[in-house]
Amino acid sequence: MVFNSLKNGITSLIFPDSCPVCLRIDIKYCEPCLKLWSQYPSLNYLSDIPIYSVVDYTPTTAKIILRAKENREAIPRFFLATAIRSVIDKLILLGEVPENFLLLPIPSSKRSNMRRGEDFLLRLVKEVANLHHPYLKYRSLLYFQRGVKDQSGLGKQDRSINLKGSMAVNSKLDLDIDPATAIVLIDDVTTTGATIQEAIAALSRSPIAGNQLIGAITASRSSSGPF
Ligand SMILES: [Zn+2]
Repeated sequence: MVFNSLKNGITSLIFPDSCPVCLRIDIKYCEPCLKLWSQYPSLNYLSDIPIYSVVDYTPTTAKIILRAKENREAIPRFFLATAIRSVIDKLILLGEVPENFLLLPIPSSKRSNMRRGEDFLLRLVKEVANLHHPYLKYRSLLYFQRGVKDQSGLGKQDRSINLKGSMAVNSKLDLDIDPATAIVLIDDVTTTGATIQEAIAALSRSPIAGNQLIGAITASRSSSGPF
């Protein structure tokens, strides 16, 4: 007994419990973080397509996204996957989406994938799909067919000029997809909506333009109100 509590005491000194999301010490998962990431998503529209976003992009939520994306940390990534997955569950329960659909990650530039050593969104979407849902399938079909500038310093109009015509569905892949399969786009952060807009345009130019695009889900939205 004494030994165990001593052992636990020493263990917590060496490996203190902390919330994996906000890193608050002495707590395994904190209530505010769990609540924040499981809340009902905000809804906006882009070209009549519903865009659901789980949280606002704040310094706190930005930290977890960056840790998942740039540091490749498993727990923050799992948190994002769970949040996106719970949006999908809510939409299925509410009958907003059919049960048979395909998740498509928004692509990253080759440069970003090289820097990170992985395609972050593909990995995230894989985790969303692997959270034991019998209907969820994913494919990495979209890619950048030309180079684009880093969007972070650009305003709304420049972002859409930067991305216009940049994305495509990869025609080298097997695109023999059941026309009844609906499509849901997945992204981590949306700001002006320019990236999702370009993905919508790329799908509409592609051989799978006939498949219904039922929406996009993003972990975070960096500005409130309509796009
Ligand atoms: Zn926390």
